[in-house]
Parts: sequence; structure tokens; C-alpha cells
Amino acid sequence: MTAPQYIGRFAPSPSGELHFGSLIAALGSFLQARACHGQWLVRIEDIDPPREVPGAADTILRQLEHYGLQWDGDVLWQSQRRQAYCEALDWLRDQHLSYYCTCPRSRIQQIGGFYDGHCRTLNHGSENAAMRLVQQHPVLSFEDKLRGRLVADEQLAREDFIIHRRDGLFAYNLAVVVDDNFQGVTEIVRGADLIEPTVRQISLYQQFGWRVPQYVHLPLAVNEQGNKLSKQNHAPALPQGDPRPVLIHALAFLNQPLIAHWQDLSPESLLNEAVKNWALSDVPDTAAMNTSFSNAPH
Ligand code: GLU
Ligand code: ZN
Repeated sequence: MTAPQYIGRFAPSPSGELHFGSLIAALGSFLQARACHGQWLVRIEDIDPPREVPGAADTILRQLEHYGLQWDGDVLWQSQRRQAYCEALDWLRDQHLSYYCTCPRSRIQQIGGFYDGHCRTLNHGSENAAMRLVQQHPVLSFEDKLRGRLVADEQLAREDFIIHRRDGLFAYNLAVVVDDNFQGVTEIVRGADLIEPTVRQISLYQQFGWRVPQYVHLPLAVNEQGNKLSKQNHAPALPQGDPRPVLIHALAFLNQPLIAHWQDLSPESLLNEAVKNWALSDVPDTAAMNTSFSNAPH
């Protein structure tokens, strides 16, 4: 059997413009896909309207183009994928792998923060209820191509996690697995902030009987206080001017060799050089790394 063609992706949520931290995830997944002669897809994860900022999705796509990060094919919008999520939820229900839960958050906090399966056999209706997965195949560890075997918190791995929210929104873990499978993604390269939910996502692949992709979790860019760069802690949007110094800074963050004479190259040629040089094994396997970039954009 021949290995499937490499398909990677970048899947931003349109909760704000791209900043240096999100550029790391975009650039790392792009370089890995291109170095593997694969496709690089972009998916806008716009299924959480309360967290969305009007216009952010379009801004993100313009920022990617400005930084020379050209994706393959059409952008997939999660807001267009409701039917696929409903079908996945219907299938789980038909397999008796889901149930409604009406427990208030305060009760779960009282028992230590992890859900205990209280409603599994209570046959609640859908009204004012979240839907949870019957966790039959907990995944206790997984192989990260950069970090080796990562062991999960056992309570997290065993939890009947939420697949459809009480407020009617589809859960991130459900949507991301349904879509990565739909798009044929073979390897997921993203930030280390998403290490935790990975075992839940793998358990969903197993429940559905789908091929599990490979995983790479890149170091997270944090500010001087050690907080992830985000809109909440005022990470500046990527500069609109010359993208090249920022790309060079991002390549240095990923511990890739300096590109000679990059000042003479277009962003596209600079990225082509970066693809030729790309060495995943040189990317630091720390969880989080400080970057002066959060406070001092060029
Ligand atoms: N949309 C998620 C985020 O922006 C990323 C999803 C993923 O890469 O799995 O944090
Ligand atoms: Zn419950």
C-alpha cells in the first residue's frame, strides 16, 4: 500500500486578527506540508459566533496572502458544515455512544472538575442539556512527532466530554475531527496549547473508525509574563508592512537556519528557501517560549 499524499492544514478561529503566535502555527504547518510535497489547506473555524469578531476571517485570509502563505484549494468554513456535524452526532446517538447531560457546571466543579458520567443512564431529553460522548475507548497517550510519547491526564482522557453544547453550538472536538477527516488531513501541525484535547480527538477517530492523523505540537509563543499571545492579552496583530523581517523572526523562533540575503528575496522566494531548509527535528520541543515579538513588533 502506498502512503496517502500528505495533507496538512491551518485552522484559525476568527476571534481576531493573526498575531505572531498564530503565525507560528500557520508557518510551521505550511513549511512541513510543503517540505513533504503535500497540500496545505486552510479552514476557518467559525462555529462559535459569540467569540467571533466581524471581519476577522477575511482579515486572516488577507494576512496569510500578505505573508506569502498561499493555501491549496478552497477555504473550508465550519459554518457551512452543520449538516456533517449533525450526521456525526446522529451516528453516535444511533450507536448509543452519546447522552444528554443536564448537570450544572457548579456540580462538576464540586466533584473536582472532571465529569463523572452522572447522566449516562438517566435518559434526559435534549432540553437545556449538553450532549456527551460515552467514552468507551479512552486514549491515555499519543505519539507527537516532535515530542515523542505524551501521556494524558487520566481523568481527562476518561471523561465523557461534551460533543454538543448546551447553548446549541457544536463542540470544537467534534467539529475538528469531522472536518480533518473530511478533508483527508494526514498530519496536524498546531500549537502546544492543543496538546490536551488531542487524546479526546483521537478517541473520536477511533469511535468513528477513521484513520488517525499524525500530530506535531509546535512551541507556543508567550509574552514576558508567560501568557500565550492572544487578543485577550493584547498581542499586536501582524504588521501590515514588509512581511519578511517577521517571517525571519518566526523562522528563528522555530530554530531554523538563517536565510542568507533574505532582504533581496520576495516573501515567496524567502518561503521557498525556508521549505528547502526545513528541519522539523530542529524545532524546539519546549511547550512555551518567550518572544520579544509580543511587545516589540517591527
Ligand atoms: N481553531 C483552533 C484555534 O484557533 C485550532 C484548531 C486546531 O488546530 O486543531 O485555536
Ligand atoms: Zn450530567
